[in-house]
Amino acid sequence: MDNINNLIRKNIRSLTPYSSARDEYTSNQGIFLDANENPFGNLNRYPDPYQWRLKQILSSQKKVTVKNILIGNGSDEIIDLVQRVFCEPNEDKIIICPPTYGMYEVYANINNVEIISIPLTVDFQLDTKAILAQNAKILYLCSPNNPTGNALENLEYIIENFNGIVFLDEAYIDFSESPSLVSKINQDPNLIVSQTFSKARGLAAVRVGIAYANEAIITVMNKVKPPYNVSLLNQEAAVLALADEANFKSNVALIKVEREKLKNALLELDFVVKIYPSEANFLLVEMQNATEIYSILIEQQIITRNRSSVVENTIRITIGTPRENQQLMYALQLLES
Ligand SMILES: *Cc1c(COP(=O)(O)O)cnc(C)c1O
Repeated sequence: MDNINNLIRKNIRSLTPYSSARDEYTSNQGIFLDANENPFGNLNRYPDPYQWRLKQILSSQKKVTVKNILIGNGSDEIIDLVQRVFCEPNEDKIIICPPTYGMYEVYANINNVEIISIPLTVDFQLDTKAILAQNAKILYLCSPNNPTGNALENLEYIIENFNGIVFLDEAYIDFSESPSLVSKINQDPNLIVSQTFSKARGLAAVRVGIAYANEAIITVMNKVKPPYNVSLLNQEAAVLALADEANFKSNVALIKVEREKLKNALLELDFVVKIYPSEANFLLVEMQNATEIYSILIEQQIITRNRSSVVENTIRITIGTPRENQQLMYALQLLES
């Protein structure tokens, strides 16, 4: 692998980051006349720009140091940030492995970064040889993958042998039997693992995403992120959620049970062709007439995601509450011929 410093854009290497008032004076004791805040009110002060409290909890849970963590305003902000750190517009390339999460590509288009597309194989695994034959700054991988639901194999081999940054999106890792690779960030200096509070943690409204990486990468990402990128309310909501491990674990367990129940029920329907194996909180379901079923469900205000444009004749169904899943099944059973 190339040295991390050589992968960083030249202008970012030499960037003098903005030094915020809260960078220069970090104690929370004192009379604060430094940041042009309004002295009146409850939410009148800028939040901690480095989210130390949240990071301390994550650091002890994940067995990494706080210097290995960056918090984003959702993991989408992190996907973008990584491109802005490493990819020279109009010059550098990223690799995506479709069908996968769409934002890697959207941000590349926004950032004017060329996209190399190396589709997954027929069983939705990585084309390792084709990936390693490419020269690109960032390889975006998603495991378990969205929208296919499966965990990717050979990740460690690819991380060890890829010349650029490997961005591993673990948005669905808590629903998976496969281990997280957060533990590898210090032995693989080119690895960035992203996770989010939006899925298993149940805080999609809150917008908190996490990047775990080697300290050198986190340091340069901190130079580029907006100083106060995560609001106080968001930081507090994430901290609160982490205090309730029992609730988190039982929700995830219930969703996994419901995933298997829903899968078995769907397989009984005569128009269901195939359900792809899922280690996430959704099922990718192939149907004889997916687009038609999708529209009929919409009419009944049951909203699924039509993925037929990326995997032929499929809809992606998020696992709901037991009652929601039952209502979906009632609606589908009425459609049987
Ligand atoms: C939902 C999703 C995200 C979005 O995460 P936010 O933290 O809500 O921005 C990221 N990656 C994948 C693969 C997702 O499915």
